[in-house]
Amino acid sequence: MDLITYSPTAADAPRLGARLGDRVADLGALAARAGVALPGDLLALIRAGQPALERARTLLGRVDHQALPPLADVVLRAPLRPGKIVGVGLNYVEHVAESHRTLDTARELPDRPVLFSKPATAVTGPGQPILHNADLTEQLDWECELAVVIGRPAVRVAEADAWRHVFGYSIVNDISARDQRRSGQWFFSKGQDSYAPFGPAVVTADEIPDPQNLGLSLTVNGETKQNSNTRHMLFSIARLIADISSGVTLEAGDVIATGSPSGVGAGQAPPQFLRPGDLVEATIERIGTLTNPVVDAR
Ligand code: MG
Repeated sequence: MDLITYSPTAADAPRLGARLGDRVADLGALAARAGVALPGDLLALIRAGQPALERARTLLGRVDHQALPPLADVVLRAPLRPGKIVGVGLNYVEHVAESHRTLDTARELPDRPVLFSKPATAVTGPGQPILHNADLTEQLDWECELAVVIGRPAVRVAEADAWRHVFGYSIVNDISARDQRRSGQWFFSKGQDSYAPFGPAVVTADEIPDPQNLGLSLTVNGETKQNSNTRHMLFSIARLIADISSGVTLEAGDVIATGSPSGVGAGQAPPQFLRPGDLVEATIERIGTLTNPVVDAR
């Protein structure tokens, strides 16, 4: 299932839906019509576990596609508000090299995952602006990343069992103000409001049998900047879940942003950064495209 949070019009409250090709199904309305109980938002659906997910699947199996509104006519929102976003730095070999060349990171490949966090307040939805505040940054950068959405809570999970804790996959654009790293700390560089565009859908894990073989790419104003595959991750998704959960509980709805491939703005020759008026499109195979405009927010 391709689960979304959307509003029929910008004035409407968000609701839980599913993307069916180029159409949208309203899961709450389908459940009400069928007299079936279903949680009203995606986080509650994840927490409700497999039986609720099966009810949603059954409802969608009976739907008349032709009667559904087009996806293009609704307003997509961020799929959910994560309790936390765990970011992974330097998780693609080529990106380690470009970061060493252009930023102040080490030349050597990390021997353990490099972890940081982005606050939930950084999350913004598809189509929503990435805020460019020239008082704070002249080096606003992009990073297209596979987002792993946690299902069952994970505490000290073995690598072999990690998959049982994955609910699904989405996209996070790990927006970074390169000139706001402070004594090697990335929180203010990566944690500002709107620095975590998230969406457009959460695709359930059963639909993506091999998440370590997904093409991912990013364009700015239609020009390709990043183009790679999740098979090039240094630390696999399973390894990341095992490593993080060795000391930090992962809860339902938490997101792991699994790292960026090369081709970030800082790594271009000469370096390129986002400006108001730019349009950033992050695409991952099977999940879709997450599009955000950059706006002046001084
Ligand atoms: Mg990143």
